[in-house]
Amino acid sequence: MNPFTPEHNLLRESFRKFVEREITPHVKYWEENNICEREVFKKMGEEGFFGVSFPEAYGGSGMDMWAAVVVSEELSKANVGGLAMSLYAHTYLPLPVINAIGTEEQKQNYLKPALKGEKIAALGITEPGAGSDVGGIKTTAEDKGDYYLVNGSKMFITNGTLADFIVLAVRTGEGHKLSLLLFDTNTEGFSAVPVTNKLGMHTSDTGQLFFENCKVPKSALLGEKDFGFYYIMSNFQEERLIASVTGTASAQNNLDRAKQYMHEREAFGRPIAKFQVLRHKIAQMAIKVEACRSLSYRAVSEFIEHGPGAYKIISIAKAYVCEEAFNVANDALQIHGGWGYMEDYGVARSFRDLRLLTVGAGTTEIMHEIISKIEMDEVRHDKQIAKRG
Ligand SMILES: Cc1cc2nc3c(=O)[nH]c(=O)nc-3n(C[C@H](O)[C@H](O)[C@H](O)COP(=O)(O)OP(=O)(O)OC[C@H]3O[C@@H](n4cnc5c(N)ncnc54)[C@H](O)[C@@H]3O)c2cc1C
Repeated sequence: MNPFTPEHNLLRESFRKFVEREITPHVKYWEENNICEREVFKKMGEEGFFGVSFPEAYGGSGMDMWAAVVVSEELSKANVGGLAMSLYAHTYLPLPVINAIGTEEQKQNYLKPALKGEKIAALGITEPGAGSDVGGIKTTAEDKGDYYLVNGSKMFITNGTLADFIVLAVRTGEGHKLSLLLFDTNTEGFSAVPVTNKLGMHTSDTGQLFFENCKVPKSALLGEKDFGFYYIMSNFQEERLIASVTGTASAQNNLDRAKQYMHEREAFGRPIAKFQVLRHKIAQMAIKVEACRSLSYRAVSEFIEHGPGAYKIISIAKAYVCEEAFNVANDALQIHGGWGYMEDYGVARSFRDLRLLTVGAGTTEIMHEIISKIEMDEVRHDKQIAKRG
C-alpha cells in the first residue's frame, strides 16, 4: 500500500531538507544540554510544516493526515524523540480540538498563530494525582459571573514552560463535569517549572504548572461548558495516530541501524551478520516493523475516511506499535552489544525515548480497556440482534 501522492512526495523532499538543515546538525548539543529551542517552532511554522494537515483558512496546506505521516517519518530520521514530541504536542494535541470545536475568533487568535509558529501551544490534562483517570482531575474553574477563577496544578505537560497558551482541562462541576479553556500563560497567578529528571526525551520541554486565582475570561471557553470530558475522549485521536506512526518509523530506523552494524562488527573472525541467531532476530524485528506499519497506516486510512471502526483500530495501533517499537529498539541495542549502551550509535537514545510511548497519549493498559470494551459491546450487540431475530 502506497498512500502517498506526488504532493506528499514533494512535501517529503522539502521537509527532509529542512530536517537536515535545521535539526540534525544541532541534535547532539540539544540532547546533551536538555534544550528545546523556541526557534525551531518559529522555523517550522514559517515554512508551513505545522499546518500540513490543517485547513488553508487558518494558514495550513489543507492536505490530509498522510501529510502528517510524511512529516513524522522524516523527523524520526533525526533520532530526536524529545523535540519531535514537543513539536507534536504543539500541533497534534491541542490544535485539532481548537480546529474541531473552537469559535471563529478562537481559531483566528490561537490556531492561526500556532500554525505559523508565532505562538507555542500545550495540552494540559494530567495532574500530579490524575493521569489515566481524567475524571479525577482537581484543577477548578469557578464561575464568577464574567470570568472563571482557575486554581490547581498540572503535571508532565509537554511545552509546559515554553507555551504561550494551553488547552486546559478544568473541573466545572461534580463527577465528569469538566470543561476546556484556552488559557493564556501570561495570565496573572500562573507559573511553570521545568521537569528535568526524565529518563529520555531530553530535547522536549516538560513542565509542572501552577494556577493560583487565575482570572480567565468567559470567551476562553472551548466548546460547551461541562462537556470537556466528552471532548477529551473523542477529540484526541491524532495524538495516538502520531504516536503509532512515530513508533513505526523509529522501529524501522532501529532495524536499519542493527542491520548496518551486523555488517560492520566482527566476532570470532567473521561479521556478526553471519550468525544465524542474529539473522533470525532481524527477521523477527522486520516482521514487527511490517505489522506496525500495516496497523498504523490502516488506522490513518480509517481516520481519514471517518470509518466506524476508526476509534478501535487507532487504539489497537497505539497499543501494539508502542509496545513493539520499544521491543525492536531493545533487540537493536542487544545486537549492538556494549556499543549499543553507549551514545555513539543512536540506538541508546532511541531506546530511552521510545520507552515513553507506552505511557503517553493513553497507556497500553488504557488502550486495552478501550479495545476490550468495544469488543465486548460487539458481542452484546450481536446477542441483542440474535434475540430480536
Ligand atoms: C514526558 C511526558 C510528557 C507528557 N506530556 C503530557 C502532556 O503534554 N499533556 C498531558 O496532559 N499529559 C502529559 N503526560 C502525562 C501522561 O499522559 C500520563 O503520564 C499518562 O496518561 C499516565 O498517567 P499517570 O502518569 O498519572 O499514570 P496512572 O494513571 O497513575 O497509571 C499508573 C499505572 O496504572 C495503570 N492504570 C491506570 N488506570 C488503569 C485502568 N483503569 N486499568 C488498568 N490499568 C490502569 C496505567 O496504565 C499505569 O500502568 C506526559 C507524561 C510524560 C512522562
